[in-house]
Amino acid sequence: MNNNKEHIEQDHNRTAYNVHVFYEKGFDKSVSRKSIQWFENFPGPIKVTLGRAIDIKINPDGKLKWDHIFEAMNSARLEARLNYEDFVFLITKTPNELNWFAACDLSNPRNRFGHSGDYSWVTSAPDHAIIAHYIIGAIFSGLITESGIDCDQVWHEGLRGCFFDHCAEKWELGIKLRTADICGDCMEILKYSGATDHLMKQTTDIREGIRTLSINTSQYLDNEAPFSNWPFPVAITRHKIVQSLDATHRFMLMLDHFDSLIRYFYFANEVMNGREPQVIERPSLGWWVNELSNRLDAREGLMEVIRITEKEKVVKLRNDLKGHGWAPHTEKSYADEAKRLESILTSIENLLKPFFESHKLLVPRTIRMDSSGAFIAEADILSGSNILHPREAIRFQGDPRHTGITSPNSIYLANREMSQFKSMSPFFLSTYCPACCHPRILVSDGGESYIDVFMGHRVTISNLGNPEH
Ligand SMILES: [Zn+2]
Ligand SMILES: [Zn+2]
Repeated sequence: MNNNKEHIEQDHNRTAYNVHVFYEKGFDKSVSRKSIQWFENFPGPIKVTLGRAIDIKINPDGKLKWDHIFEAMNSARLEARLNYEDFVFLITKTPNELNWFAACDLSNPRNRFGHSGDYSWVTSAPDHAIIAHYIIGAIFSGLITESGIDCDQVWHEGLRGCFFDHCAEKWELGIKLRTADICGDCMEILKYSGATDHLMKQTTDIREGIRTLSINTSQYLDNEAPFSNWPFPVAITRHKIVQSLDATHRFMLMLDHFDSLIRYFYFANEVMNGREPQVIERPSLGWWVNELSNRLDAREGLMEVIRITEKEKVVKLRNDLKGHGWAPHTEKSYADEAKRLESILTSIENLLKPFFESHKLLVPRTIRMDSSGAFIAEADILSGSNILHPREAIRFQGDPRHTGITSPNSIYLANREMSQFKSMSPFFLSTYCPACCHPRILVSDGGESYIDVFMGHRVTISNLGNPEH
């Protein structure tokens, strides 16, 4: 009898869940491929295969009708000759009629679509991780519906920190990803619906992996947030927005991030072009934008950054708010302004991304000679928002001074090959911040004034000749 029971359990745990992922035409295939890798990195009963891009009719209002989405999925099913028990998941890039993040086909619970929008403002988890999360949702909701439970009744209206939180607002998804949990009620429902232990184990492993990319303290972990290749001064101001839930604070952090993008762009562009950056005392945001626009070639693509800034009156927005005491009356008006600023910043970031990824910021800490006589510099790489900057050894053919490195503990801007270095001193410093007494990256605010980009405070550094580490 016992043996028989074990046999049944083993059999039960051998259940495989085959998922075929299709994506709307125009969606980045490499993101789809990476989302599937989650199921390879954490193997288990879910086997995911990547199907082709599919065309879905877009309505005149620019949205997808659910009927059209599910029709397209059923055609893809037929064409690929899938078994009826196979799951089909479709990644959409066009918004859908009800603006849902994900939804399931009532006539076939094993069909589900998920919308891949811009979540980089509410979570540091990359897009492919969010799609992996949706794929898990496709299996869970499919099983629940098939067990006769109305899946709509399962989703929680309030926030419980559970996989089944409905998440009417985008930021709520950020919380769900950070808990990576399932509440007790939903665990019971999943068990009742026949979710096997192996299924629960694999999905928990994957969700735990996604969680470490989503948590606010991921700044202390190696992560692959969308801004992980960006220079630290802009990656850190970007990451802080993701961590904030309060609408007013979030809006302020977005304005700080805009300032940081422009400031960094100005300094790096000057140094890269062999010029000594000129900065007045306590420059205004308008001053940075103006200087930058004088330095950029009007034909250059990056000039578009200035055009967007001027067209959208970002400097005015910032001055109105921070300088002249204007403030929206309610949390709601902050939220609306934040939404608008979010889309402006997205266009600016998209333009600047190739520039940010074209070089590296680093601080050589020690320079030594190895047994073969080659010089080795141990350098802190200032990429991404990780405060404990990863250290890398750089090997030089000859004297490192010939490549531009002249002093340890100064910040350098290196080309991608890390063969040419230009000093960012004294505009960027790696030193003890006098306000918080921690080693920090400080960015010039003109004269002896600096900004600790991690803490967001302004400090004065008077002994510039002697940067410590
Ligand atoms: Zn729950
Ligand atoms: Zn500080």
